[in-house]
Parts: sequence; C-alpha cells; structure tokens
Amino acid sequence: MECIFCRIVAGEVPGDIVYQDEELIAFRDIHPQAPTHILIIPKSHIASMTDLTEEHQALVGRLILLAKELAEKEGISASGYRLSVSTGADGGQLVPHVHFHLLGGRKLDDQLG
Ligand code: 5GP
Ligand code: ZN
Repeated sequence: MECIFCRIVAGEVPGDIVYQDEELIAFRDIHPQAPTHILIIPKSHIASMTDLTEEHQALVGRLILLAKELAEKEGISASGYRLSVSTGADGGQLVPHVHFHLLGGRKLDDQLG
C-alpha cells in the first residue's frame, strides 16, 4: 500500500487520530499550519475531489458535518475556522487521497491562494 493516508487508516503508520467511524477518520496534520489543523478523510481511497461522484453525496455531507463538530470540540467554533480542500497540481494537492483541512485557533491569512 503506497498511499500514506490509507496506511494511517490501516494502522500501519501512527496518526494522532481525533475521530473515526466506519466511513471517516480525522487526525492531526503532521505539520500543523495553525493551533488546530486536522485532516478529515474518507477511509476508502478516493484520490481527489475530481473522483467524487453522486454516490459519495452522503459521505461528503457527513464529512462536512464532522468538520463542524470537531471545530466545536476544538473550541474554535466561536472564533472561526477554515475548511479547505486542495485538488491537483494547481491546487497544491500533495497527498493523493482526498482530505479536508480543518484550520483554526489563529487568524488565518486573508488570501485564499
Ligand atoms: P495537501 O497539500 O495534499 O492538501 O496536504 C497534505 C497534508 O498532509 C499536509 O498538510 C501534510 O503536512 C500532511 N501530511 C503528509 N504526510 C502526513 C503524515 O504522514 N501524517 C500526517 N498526520 N499528516 C501528513
Ligand atoms: Zn489512500
């Protein structure tokens, strides 16, 4: 298995896991860009946003609601946060397993790119 995030899902590589269920897992980014920096991913290997289809509708909905819940748990809900997804080369995606970054705990840059 080459995908680093699949290896975290499989427990082959340690991850600071903050949540998991049958479909989703959330763990802290190894190089945090903010006091809270959590990656939320589907457990199944989906390479990027471009591979999402209608059949993933409920999964993606659950993932976004999980981000909201984790923001509350992290205590950053009131101060605000950002949920972002990098896709492909121009999007700066480095890990080819779709992931949502939950960032907060400091004032984030105004710039989106
Ligand atoms: P991307 O640029 O693909 O959106 O972001 C990939 C993120 O994954 C980066 O923020 C990077 O720090 C994080 N990352 C890469 N390898 C690992 C790892 O082995 N463990 C964890 N927890 N995060 C990782
Ligand atoms: Zn994967």
